Amino acid sequence: MAIESEKKHLLGVTLEDFAAYCDEQNLPAYRAKQVFEWVYKHGGGDFSAMSNLSKPLRQQLAEHWMVTTAVPADRREATDHTLKLLLRWPDEATSECVLIPDDRRQTACISSQVGCPVRCVFCASGHGGLQRQLKAGEIVEQALTLARLSESQGQRLSHIVVMGIGEPLANYNNVIKAIRIINADWGLNIGARKITVSTVGLPKQIRQLAAEDIQINLAISLHAPTDELRQELIPWAKNTRIDELVQAVRDYFKATGREVTIEYLLLGGVNDKVEHAHRLVTLCRRMRCNVNLIRYNPVPGLDFQRPDSSATHWFVQQLRERGVNVHVRKSRGLDIDAACGQLRRSTGGAKGTAVRG
Ligand code: SF4
Repeated sequence: MAIESEKKHLLGVTLEDFAAYCDEQNLPAYRAKQVFEWVYKHGGGDFSAMSNLSKPLRQQLAEHWMVTTAVPADRREATDHTLKLLLRWPDEATSECVLIPDDRRQTACISSQVGCPVRCVFCASGHGGLQRQLKAGEIVEQALTLARLSESQGQRLSHIVVMGIGEPLANYNNVIKAIRIINADWGLNIGARKITVSTVGLPKQIRQLAAEDIQINLAISLHAPTDELRQELIPWAKNTRIDELVQAVRDYFKATGREVTIEYLLLGGVNDKVEHAHRLVTLCRRMRCNVNLIRYNPVPGLDFQRPDSSATHWFVQQLRERGVNVHVRKSRGLDIDAACGQLRRSTGGAKGTAVRG
Protein backbone atom coordinates (compact mmCIF):
# COMPACT_ATOMS: atom_id res chain seq x y z
CA MET A 1 0.00 0.00 0.00
CA ALA A 2 1.24 3.48 -0.84
CA ILE A 3 2.38 5.62 2.07
CA GLU A 4 0.69 9.01 2.53
CA SER A 5 3.58 11.07 1.12
CA GLU A 6 3.52 9.13 -2.15
CA LYS A 7 -0.08 9.99 -2.77
CA LYS A 8 -0.94 12.81 -5.12
CA HIS A 9 -2.82 15.87 -3.91
CA LEU A 10 -6.10 15.99 -5.81
CA LEU A 11 -6.52 19.73 -5.18
CA GLY A 12 -3.29 20.40 -7.06
CA VAL A 13 -4.43 18.88 -10.37
CA THR A 14 -6.80 20.12 -13.04
CA LEU A 15 -9.84 18.22 -14.21
CA GLU A 16 -7.96 17.52 -17.43
CA ASP A 17 -5.04 15.96 -15.52
CA PHE A 18 -7.37 13.83 -13.45
CA ALA A 19 -9.30 12.74 -16.53
CA ALA A 20 -5.96 11.62 -18.03
CA TYR A 21 -5.32 9.54 -14.89
CA CYS A 22 -8.81 7.99 -15.17
CA ASP A 23 -8.10 7.19 -18.80
CA GLU A 24 -4.81 5.46 -17.88
CA GLN A 25 -6.70 3.38 -15.31
CA ASN A 26 -9.36 2.47 -17.91
CA LEU A 27 -12.00 4.33 -15.94
CA PRO A 28 -14.80 6.03 -17.87
CA ALA A 29 -14.22 9.77 -18.47
CA TYR A 30 -17.31 10.78 -16.46
CA ARG A 31 -15.63 9.47 -13.28
CA ALA A 32 -13.23 12.42 -13.23
CA LYS A 33 -16.16 14.87 -13.32
CA GLN A 34 -18.00 12.92 -10.64
CA VAL A 35 -15.02 13.07 -8.27
CA PHE A 36 -14.40 16.78 -8.88
CA GLU A 37 -18.08 17.60 -8.37
CA TRP A 38 -18.02 15.73 -5.12
CA VAL A 39 -14.96 17.59 -3.90
CA TYR A 40 -15.72 21.13 -5.08
CA LYS A 41 -19.53 21.28 -5.18
CA HIS A 42 -20.56 18.92 -2.39
CA GLY A 43 -17.67 19.57 -0.01
CA GLY A 44 -16.40 15.98 0.08
CA GLY A 45 -12.95 15.67 1.64
CA ASP A 46 -12.68 11.92 1.77
CA PHE A 47 -13.07 9.24 -0.92
CA SER A 48 -14.76 6.85 1.53
CA ALA A 49 -17.78 9.19 1.67
CA MET A 50 -18.21 9.33 -2.14
CA SER A 51 -21.30 7.15 -2.16
CA ASN A 52 -21.81 7.52 -5.90
CA LEU A 53 -18.65 5.46 -6.57
CA SER A 54 -18.25 1.73 -6.03
CA LYS A 55 -16.33 0.61 -2.96
CA PRO A 56 -13.40 -0.89 -4.93
CA LEU A 57 -13.05 2.34 -6.92
CA ARG A 58 -13.09 4.43 -3.73
CA GLN A 59 -10.33 2.20 -2.34
CA GLN A 60 -8.31 2.46 -5.54
CA LEU A 61 -8.53 6.26 -5.52
CA ALA A 62 -7.70 6.48 -1.81
CA GLU A 63 -4.53 4.44 -2.41
CA HIS A 64 -3.18 6.95 -4.92
CA TRP A 65 -4.76 10.28 -4.03
CA MET A 66 -5.45 12.53 -1.07
CA VAL A 67 -8.15 15.18 -1.31
CA THR A 68 -6.88 17.33 1.57
CA THR A 69 -3.46 17.08 3.21
CA ALA A 70 -3.50 19.58 6.10
CA VAL A 71 -4.82 19.32 9.63
CA PRO A 72 -6.14 22.38 11.46
CA ALA A 73 -3.57 23.40 14.08
CA ASP A 74 -5.32 26.47 15.46
CA ARG A 75 -8.44 28.55 14.90
CA ARG A 76 -9.33 31.99 16.24
CA GLU A 77 -12.43 34.07 15.73
CA ALA A 78 -12.49 37.84 16.28
CA THR A 79 -15.38 39.82 17.69
CA ASP A 80 -16.01 41.09 14.12
CA HIS A 81 -16.24 37.38 13.03
CA THR A 82 -12.97 37.41 11.12
CA LEU A 83 -11.81 33.82 11.35
CA LYS A 84 -8.18 32.84 11.23
CA LEU A 85 -6.99 29.28 10.64
CA LEU A 86 -3.58 27.75 10.99
CA LEU A 87 -3.12 24.68 8.78
CA ARG A 88 -0.37 22.14 9.40
CA TRP A 89 0.99 20.33 6.32
CA PRO A 90 2.39 16.77 6.44
CA ASP A 91 5.99 18.11 6.68
CA GLU A 92 4.98 20.09 9.81
CA ALA A 93 5.18 23.43 7.98
CA THR A 94 2.24 25.69 8.79
CA SER A 95 0.20 28.24 6.82
CA GLU A 96 -2.23 30.89 7.92
CA CYS A 97 -5.41 31.71 6.07
CA VAL A 98 -8.22 34.07 7.05
CA LEU A 99 -11.95 34.23 6.30
CA ILE A 100 -13.16 37.83 6.31
CA PRO A 101 -16.93 38.14 6.34
CA ASP A 102 -18.54 41.40 5.32
CA ASP A 103 -22.06 42.60 4.49
CA ARG A 104 -21.76 41.90 0.79
CA ARG A 105 -18.80 39.56 0.44
CA GLN A 106 -16.97 36.64 1.99
CA THR A 107 -13.25 36.94 1.36
CA ALA A 108 -10.56 34.30 1.82
CA CYS A 109 -7.05 35.65 2.39
CA ILE A 110 -4.58 32.88 1.56
CA SER A 111 -0.81 32.40 1.77
CA SER A 112 1.51 31.61 -1.14
CA GLN A 113 4.71 30.53 0.66
CA VAL A 114 5.79 29.13 4.03
CA GLY A 115 7.58 32.11 5.53
CA CYS A 116 8.54 34.94 3.23
CA PRO A 117 11.75 36.04 1.51
CA VAL A 118 10.77 39.73 1.37
CA ARG A 119 11.61 40.44 5.03
CA CYS A 120 9.53 43.58 5.55
CA VAL A 121 10.74 45.07 8.83
CA PHE A 122 7.18 45.62 10.09
CA CYS A 123 6.17 41.99 9.47
CA ALA A 124 6.52 38.85 11.58
CA SER A 125 6.65 36.42 8.64
CA GLY A 126 9.44 38.32 6.97
CA HIS A 127 11.76 37.98 9.95
CA GLY A 128 11.86 34.19 9.70
CA GLY A 129 12.70 34.24 5.96
CA LEU A 130 11.44 31.77 3.36
CA GLN A 131 11.02 28.15 4.46
CA ARG A 132 9.54 26.72 1.29
CA GLN A 133 7.15 27.30 -1.58
CA LEU A 134 3.55 26.24 -1.17
CA LYS A 135 2.41 23.81 -3.85
CA ALA A 136 -0.61 24.63 -6.01
CA GLY A 137 -2.74 22.08 -4.13
CA GLU A 138 -1.81 23.62 -0.79
CA ILE A 139 -2.85 27.07 -2.01
CA VAL A 140 -6.16 25.67 -3.30
CA GLU A 141 -6.66 23.75 -0.05
CA GLN A 142 -6.60 26.97 1.98
CA ALA A 143 -9.30 28.46 -0.27
CA LEU A 144 -11.41 25.29 -0.22
CA THR A 145 -11.17 24.97 3.57
CA LEU A 146 -12.35 28.56 4.00
CA ALA A 147 -15.09 28.06 1.36
CA ARG A 148 -16.45 25.14 3.39
CA LEU A 149 -16.30 27.15 6.59
CA SER A 150 -18.15 29.98 4.91
CA GLU A 151 -20.79 27.58 3.57
CA SER A 152 -21.23 26.12 7.06
CA GLN A 153 -22.22 29.67 8.07
CA GLY A 154 -24.71 29.88 5.20
CA GLN A 155 -22.58 32.14 2.95
CA ARG A 156 -20.84 31.38 -0.32
CA LEU A 157 -17.18 32.36 -0.53
CA SER A 158 -17.11 35.21 -3.05
CA HIS A 159 -13.58 36.69 -3.13
CA ILE A 160 -9.99 35.47 -2.89
CA VAL A 161 -7.01 37.64 -2.02
CA VAL A 162 -3.53 36.14 -2.26
CA MET A 163 -2.29 38.52 0.43
CA GLY A 164 -1.32 36.18 3.22
CA ILE A 165 2.22 35.10 3.98
CA GLY A 166 4.69 35.03 1.11
CA GLU A 167 5.42 36.78 -2.15
CA PRO A 168 3.02 35.21 -4.69
CA LEU A 169 4.99 36.21 -7.78
CA ALA A 170 8.10 34.51 -6.35
CA ASN A 171 6.09 31.25 -6.49
CA TYR A 172 4.63 32.11 -9.86
CA ASN A 173 3.78 28.74 -11.42
CA ASN A 174 2.14 27.28 -8.31
CA VAL A 175 0.15 30.46 -7.66
CA ILE A 176 -1.12 30.73 -11.23
CA LYS A 177 -2.04 27.05 -11.34
CA ALA A 178 -3.92 27.41 -8.03
CA ILE A 179 -5.75 30.50 -9.30
CA ARG A 180 -6.82 28.65 -12.44
CA ILE A 181 -8.22 25.83 -10.29
CA ILE A 182 -9.98 28.30 -7.95
CA ASN A 183 -11.42 30.13 -10.97
CA ALA A 184 -12.46 27.06 -13.02
CA ASP A 185 -16.16 26.20 -13.26
CA TRP A 186 -15.23 22.62 -12.28
CA GLY A 187 -13.18 24.01 -9.36
CA LEU A 188 -14.18 26.62 -6.79
CA ASN A 189 -15.81 28.65 -9.57
CA ILE A 190 -14.81 32.07 -8.18
CA GLY A 191 -14.79 34.77 -10.86
CA ALA A 192 -11.36 36.01 -11.95
CA ARG A 193 -12.37 39.61 -11.22
CA LYS A 194 -12.98 38.58 -7.63
CA ILE A 195 -9.42 37.26 -7.24
CA THR A 196 -6.58 39.61 -6.27
CA VAL A 197 -2.86 38.92 -6.18
CA SER A 198 -0.80 41.24 -4.02
CA THR A 199 2.91 41.59 -4.74
CA VAL A 200 5.84 43.62 -3.51
CA GLY A 201 6.52 44.10 -7.22
CA LEU A 202 8.58 41.83 -9.45
CA PRO A 203 8.66 43.56 -12.87
CA LYS A 204 9.39 40.44 -14.95
CA GLN A 205 6.55 38.48 -13.35
CA ILE A 206 4.15 41.46 -13.54
CA ARG A 207 4.68 41.47 -17.32
CA GLN A 208 4.31 37.67 -17.38
CA LEU A 209 1.01 38.00 -15.49
CA ALA A 210 -0.20 40.59 -17.99
CA ALA A 211 0.27 38.00 -20.73
CA GLU A 212 -1.82 35.33 -18.93
CA ASP A 213 -5.30 34.85 -20.25
CA ILE A 214 -6.96 35.55 -16.89
CA GLN A 215 -8.65 38.76 -15.68
CA ILE A 216 -7.51 38.83 -12.05
CA ASN A 217 -6.72 42.00 -10.07
CA LEU A 218 -3.19 43.07 -9.24
CA ALA A 219 -2.19 44.96 -6.10
CA ILE A 220 1.28 46.38 -5.49
CA SER A 221 2.56 46.74 -1.92
CA LEU A 222 4.38 50.07 -2.24
CA HIS A 223 4.40 51.30 1.37
CA ALA A 224 6.87 54.13 0.68
CA PRO A 225 7.17 56.72 -2.11
CA THR A 226 10.99 56.87 -2.24
CA ASP A 227 13.54 54.11 -2.88
CA GLU A 228 15.45 55.04 0.24
CA LEU A 229 12.53 54.64 2.63
CA ARG A 230 11.10 51.68 0.74
CA GLN A 231 14.38 49.78 0.96
CA GLU A 232 14.51 50.47 4.71
CA LEU A 233 11.03 49.04 5.16
CA ILE A 234 11.20 46.28 2.54
CA PRO A 235 14.76 44.91 2.16
CA TRP A 236 13.79 43.00 -1.02
CA ALA A 237 12.98 46.33 -2.67
CA LYS A 238 16.74 46.71 -3.19
CA ASN A 239 16.20 44.43 -6.20
CA THR A 240 13.70 46.79 -7.83
CA ARG A 241 13.71 50.57 -7.97
CA ILE A 242 10.33 52.32 -7.84
CA ASP A 243 10.91 53.62 -11.38
CA GLU A 244 11.20 50.06 -12.71
CA LEU A 245 8.06 49.13 -10.83
CA VAL A 246 6.12 52.09 -12.26
CA GLN A 247 7.24 51.07 -15.76
CA ALA A 248 6.09 47.47 -15.18
CA VAL A 249 2.69 48.73 -13.94
CA ARG A 250 2.37 50.98 -17.00
CA ASP A 251 3.16 48.00 -19.26
CA TYR A 252 0.65 45.91 -17.33
CA PHE A 253 -2.07 48.51 -17.92
CA LYS A 254 -1.15 48.79 -21.59
CA ALA A 255 -1.45 45.02 -22.05
CA THR A 256 -4.56 44.39 -19.93
CA GLY A 257 -6.43 47.70 -19.63
CA ARG A 258 -6.76 46.98 -15.90
CA GLU A 259 -5.92 49.50 -13.20
CA VAL A 260 -3.74 48.26 -10.35
CA THR A 261 -4.23 48.94 -6.67
CA ILE A 262 -1.35 50.55 -4.83
CA GLU A 263 -1.26 49.36 -1.25
CA TYR A 264 0.22 51.77 1.24
CA LEU A 265 0.64 50.63 4.82
CA LEU A 266 0.46 53.76 6.94
CA LEU A 267 3.06 53.59 9.70
CA GLY A 268 2.67 56.36 12.28
CA GLY A 269 5.56 58.86 12.04
CA VAL A 270 7.37 56.84 9.34
CA ASN A 271 5.68 57.26 5.96
CA ASP A 272 2.72 59.52 6.78
CA LYS A 273 4.23 63.00 6.45
CA VAL A 274 3.41 65.71 3.96
CA GLU A 275 6.42 64.94 1.74
CA HIS A 276 5.36 61.28 1.57
CA ALA A 277 1.82 62.22 0.56
CA HIS A 278 3.04 64.56 -2.17
CA ARG A 279 5.57 62.11 -3.56
CA LEU A 280 2.93 59.39 -3.57
CA VAL A 281 0.64 61.67 -5.58
CA THR A 282 3.44 62.24 -8.11
CA LEU A 283 3.94 58.50 -8.50
CA CYS A 284 0.21 57.82 -8.84
CA ARG A 285 -0.01 60.36 -11.65
CA ARG A 286 2.40 58.20 -13.66
CA MET A 287 0.19 55.08 -13.44
CA ARG A 288 -3.45 54.07 -13.84
CA CYS A 289 -4.10 53.13 -10.25
CA ASN A 290 -6.11 53.57 -7.10
CA VAL A 291 -4.66 53.62 -3.59
CA ASN A 292 -5.61 51.35 -0.72
CA LEU A 293 -4.45 52.80 2.61
CA ILE A 294 -4.02 50.34 5.44
CA ARG A 295 -3.53 51.47 9.01
CA TYR A 296 -0.77 49.42 10.62
CA ASN A 297 -1.85 46.75 13.14
CA PRO A 298 0.68 46.93 15.97
CA VAL A 299 2.80 43.81 16.52
CA PRO A 300 4.16 43.11 19.99
CA GLY A 301 7.93 43.51 19.98
CA LEU A 302 8.05 45.72 16.87
CA ASP A 303 8.61 49.42 17.18
CA PHE A 304 5.98 50.69 14.72
CA GLN A 305 2.87 52.66 15.62
CA ARG A 306 -0.64 52.58 14.27
CA PRO A 307 -1.47 56.11 13.02
CA ASP A 308 -4.50 57.62 14.73
CA SER A 309 -7.64 58.29 12.74
CA SER A 310 -7.03 62.04 12.37
CA ALA A 311 -3.55 61.45 10.88
CA THR A 312 -5.06 58.87 8.53
CA HIS A 313 -7.86 61.24 7.52
CA TRP A 314 -5.33 64.03 6.89
CA PHE A 315 -3.21 61.74 4.65
CA VAL A 316 -6.30 60.68 2.70
CA GLN A 317 -7.26 64.33 2.16
CA GLN A 318 -3.78 65.15 0.83
CA LEU A 319 -4.22 62.45 -1.82
CA ARG A 320 -7.88 63.16 -2.65
CA GLU A 321 -7.35 66.90 -3.05
CA ARG A 322 -4.74 66.08 -5.69
CA GLY A 323 -7.03 63.77 -7.63
CA VAL A 324 -5.92 60.36 -6.36
CA ASN A 325 -8.62 57.74 -5.91
CA VAL A 326 -8.00 56.45 -2.38
CA HIS A 327 -9.78 54.13 0.05
CA VAL A 328 -8.95 53.23 3.62
CA ARG A 329 -9.12 49.50 4.18
CA LYS A 330 -11.11 48.51 7.25
CA SER A 331 -9.00 46.86 9.93
CA ARG A 332 -10.32 43.39 10.61
CA GLY A 333 -9.70 40.88 13.35
CA LEU A 334 -7.59 43.20 15.50
CA ASP A 335 -8.32 41.10 18.59
CA ILE A 336 -7.13 37.76 17.10
CA ASP A 337 -3.69 38.50 15.68
CA ALA A 338 -5.27 38.79 12.24
CA ALA A 339 -2.32 40.53 10.64
CA CYS A 340 -0.38 37.91 8.78
CA GLY A 341 2.12 35.72 10.57
CA GLN A 342 0.95 36.57 14.05
CA LEU A 343 -0.93 33.32 14.58
CA ARG A 344 1.92 31.25 13.14
CA ARG A 345 4.34 33.01 15.41
CA SER A 346 2.23 32.80 18.53
CA THR A 347 1.79 29.04 18.05
CA GLY A 348 5.49 28.50 17.40
CA GLY A 349 5.22 27.97 13.63
CA ALA A 350 7.41 30.94 12.71
CA LYS A 351 10.49 32.46 14.20
CA GLY A 352 9.73 36.09 13.45
CA THR A 353 7.01 38.63 13.81
CA ALA A 354 4.53 39.37 11.07
CA VAL A 355 2.05 41.74 9.59
CA ARG A 356 1.17 41.84 5.93
CA GLY A 357 0.77 45.24 4.49
S1 SF4 B 1 4.44 41.92 4.67
FE1 SF4 B 1 4.05 40.34 3.15
S2 SF4 B 1 5.73 40.57 1.70
FE2 SF4 B 1 6.36 41.63 3.57
S3 SF4 B 1 7.52 40.07 4.72
FE3 SF4 B 1 5.38 40.01 5.40
S4 SF4 B 1 4.44 38.37 4.18
FE4 SF4 B 1 6.35 39.00 3.15
